[in-house]
Formats: sequence, structure tokens, C-alpha cells
Amino acid sequence: MTDARDGSYDEFIDALESGDGYYYECSNGHGTLPPRRVCPHCGDRELETVALPATGEVATYTTVAVPTPQFEDDAPYVTAIATFGPVRLTGIIPDTSGENVAIGQDVTAAVEPTETTDERTITFRR
Ligand SMILES: [Zn+2]
Repeated sequence: MTDARDGSYDEFIDALESGDGYYYECSNGHGTLPPRRVCPHCGDRELETVALPATGEVATYTTVAVPTPQFEDDAPYVTAIATFGPVRLTGIIPDTSGENVAIGQDVTAAVEPTETTDERTITFRR
């Protein structure tokens, strides 16, 4: 977290929030997310910025019945990992206890404030 304006996580969240999400692709086709500057799979430093696919797919999810204090007012919700091309994002699916969430379901990624702390969070919309 030394370089605030070049490939930082905040910059990534800003981009995702305005619908311009991206990821890095190395010359071997591995995908990774900011703030990395080196491919975690092969050590390649030639990272190219690629647009994040508009739609992702739920890979795994967990219903949160007893939230941590910073998500108290958001419950119930589901935390999910969704794959967008070669990368995975972790986010929340709001307003559900998970009964209508399924692995393989299509989602889009947005950035929304949480109910509890107003903190920007990756949110998956179906
Ligand atoms: Zn690589």
C-alpha cells in the first residue's frame, strides 16, 4: 500500500464503482487484481490492464446469520466469491438469507455503501 494512485485497491474500487472494473493479465494469461504489481502465479512483471467482464458467476457463498459489528444493520446477507473471467471477487449479496442464491448464478459487481457503516463494499447484484 505504498503507491496510492497506481494500481491501488482504492483506485480499483473507484473504477468498479463507475462501471469500469478491470484486472491485470500477465503475459501467460493469468489474471490478478490490484494492488499487485507482479503476477502471483508465475512472477511475471508484465501486467496488462484488461476490462473486467460485465457478468460474473457465483463460485461459493455463505449466509451470514450473525454479522460482525460493522455489518450489523446489513443482516441478513450473503458473502460470496464470484469469478469474473480469470479473477475472483469477494463481495456481499444484500437482502437475502441465501435461499435464492445458487452456485453458478450470474451476478454483476457494484460498489455500494453498507447499511451499518456507510463503507464502500463490493456488492453482487443478480
Ligand atoms: Zn502469470
